[in-house]
Amino acid sequence: MSINRTSVYLDYNATAPLRPEAREALLRALESPANPSSVHAAGRAARDVVERARAQVGALVGVPAGSVTFVSGGTEANALAIDSAKAAGVQRIIISAVEHDAVVETAKVSGLPVEILPVDSNGVADLAWLAQALETPGKALVCLMLANNETGVIQPVAEASALVRAHESWLHVDAVQAAGKIAIDFSGLGADTMALSAHKLGGPQGVGALVAGTRAAVTRRQHGGGQERGRRAGTENVAGIAAFGAAALAAPEGLASLAEQGHWRDALAFRLKAEGAVVLGEGAQRLPQTLCFAGEGFGSEVQVMNLDLAGVMVSAGSACSSGKVKASRVVEAMGRSDLAPYALRVSGGWASTEADWIKCGDAWLAAWKRIGARRREVA
Ligand code: PLP
Repeated sequence: MSINRTSVYLDYNATAPLRPEAREALLRALESPANPSSVHAAGRAARDVVERARAQVGALVGVPAGSVTFVSGGTEANALAIDSAKAAGVQRIIISAVEHDAVVETAKVSGLPVEILPVDSNGVADLAWLAQALETPGKALVCLMLANNETGVIQPVAEASALVRAHESWLHVDAVQAAGKIAIDFSGLGADTMALSAHKLGGPQGVGALVAGTRAAVTRRQHGGGQERGRRAGTENVAGIAAFGAAALAAPEGLASLAEQGHWRDALAFRLKAEGAVVLGEGAQRLPQTLCFAGEGFGSEVQVMNLDLAGVMVSAGSACSSGKVKASRVVEAMGRSDLAPYALRVSGGWASTEADWIKCGDAWLAAWKRIGARRREVA
């Protein structure tokens, strides 16, 4: 990991550090450049690299290689799923209130009516509402993420899929944050399509995959050459794909120790709550390495800056690509608009240590006490 060990990186849900296995695969592929479409020996070797990675990524979620289409990342995978469902004749889109902007914004411009599936105070989708909404005639595309990027809350996807299936509709699952952090069984979840992204599980940025089950036909989104079986034209990102495959292969070995990280996360939550912070989504099943909390009156942006000065890198509950922080839409959807401007996300991963979580707590509590003292002086 290139981030120096005097600083603490707990922002894996933004991007996880590159795994050594992924780095090695990336460099190896870069050193023997060839186009996988070339018929000569070097081209065939590059094709082998891509196909091996396809099998490795498929294995991560329990599907055969043929179910995997490589794309540029989670955003494109979500867009390709929505386009594919639209091409298959869905008439409306139902998205959970906590979906990532990649889903929200793509659904908005799809030209189809969009309905919002509400969540409860823990951020869990309301399946009774979904059951009711699916009674309306017309094939629907239901987008329900597996784990939320801000809170880590895990959605009842298998239960939702039973409802979606009964209405012959299409279930798309954004598993970008869940992959590599918990075990995923694509068939068991009953998904039609699933989005994955390499950089959230220790692969490089700019590569992802759409997984499609047998019921789902993936549409042609990008025209040109016949790469990715005509679904996504353009010379493959061989090195990125190789590294994605290596990360997908390495990730399951670390799942047990990642689950243990839940204890460090909970120990931090305990310290924060004792000083008045509120943990969001605590009553739901969550990713073991994600903690979202709010200290009332302590703006997200100020928290991030205070922690950064102390050498601890985390994110605001909701940071958009410009780096500007806006109130968390996810926290608002959970009925806690009062806390939305104060939400902070701490997310660890494969290389995090208990000391990292402790240092993060020390830094946050020190800043919280400073802010409190200043407030008392002003009052
Ligand atoms: N979906 C979720 C849940 C995410 O957290 C992200 C990235 O933050 C994306 C999709 C987009 O993935 P990518 O950055 O690979 O485009």
